Amino acid sequence: MKTMRTSVGIVGAGPAGLMLGHLLHRAGIDSIIIENRPEDYVIERVRAGVLEQSTVDLMVESGVGSRLQREGMFHDGIYLNVFGKRRRIDMAELTGRRITVYGQNEVVKRLAGWAALLAAPTLIASWYGMNFHHMPELDKPYAYPVLITLTISVCVGLFILLRRAKWL
Ligand SMILES: Cc1cc2nc3c(=O)[nH]c(=O)nc-3n(C[C@H](O)[C@H](O)[C@H](O)COP(=O)(O)OP(=O)(O)OC[C@H]3O[C@@H](n4cnc5c(N)ncnc54)[C@H](O)[C@@H]3O)c2cc1C
Repeated sequence: MKTMRTSVGIVGAGPAGLMLGHLLHRAGIDSIIIENRPEDYVIERVRAGVLEQSTVDLMVESGVGSRLQREGMFHDGIYLNVFGKRRRIDMAELTGRRITVYGQNEVVKRLAGWAALLAAPTLIASWYGMNFHHMPELDKPYAYPVLITLTISVCVGLFILLRRAKWL
């Protein structure tokens, strides 16, 4: 059996699990998310379409909200018909908050995309934190420049791939 070490184990790659993993990563705490359904199911299942302001704020503050800000549809009021008279309730003016129409599967893609992107440098950094007795590359003069270049190249390559697939 393969053994993996992590500080936090998260069960379920729904929006809650993915956001928790993202926030832990930002706080410098590594985590592993375990999901028992296939990727297609997790990404494609259609559920929430309306995000509340606090969810949008959290996504923007934690750096995964740029596409949502570009592509989300913002609703800042509703109309009520009372005895044939149409009245607008301006939520934004009354409360300073609004709701955003944006698919939950898009939220899951953004969070999973960033998790995939950040996994590469995290994995490399964790190798160096393992205190092996013998690390052959430490004797080589160009080991660190090569490693840093490789890490940046992997991150840029992944970013381009994920961007093309519209996961970022
Ligand atoms: C039809 C519908 C419409 C909705 N509309 C809205 C809306 O407009 N706005 C809104 O805010 N919310 C809406 N919701 C609610 C929203 O979808 C949920 O609040 C949200 O999905 C909860 O996220 P979660 O990560 O807690 O759980 P989930 O999204 O359910 O994710 C849990 C994950 O854990 C996995 N899992 C479960 N057990 C295990 C296990 N033992 N091992 C490994 N993995 C496991 C599951 O496969 C799943 O992927 C709607 C829900 C439905 C069903």
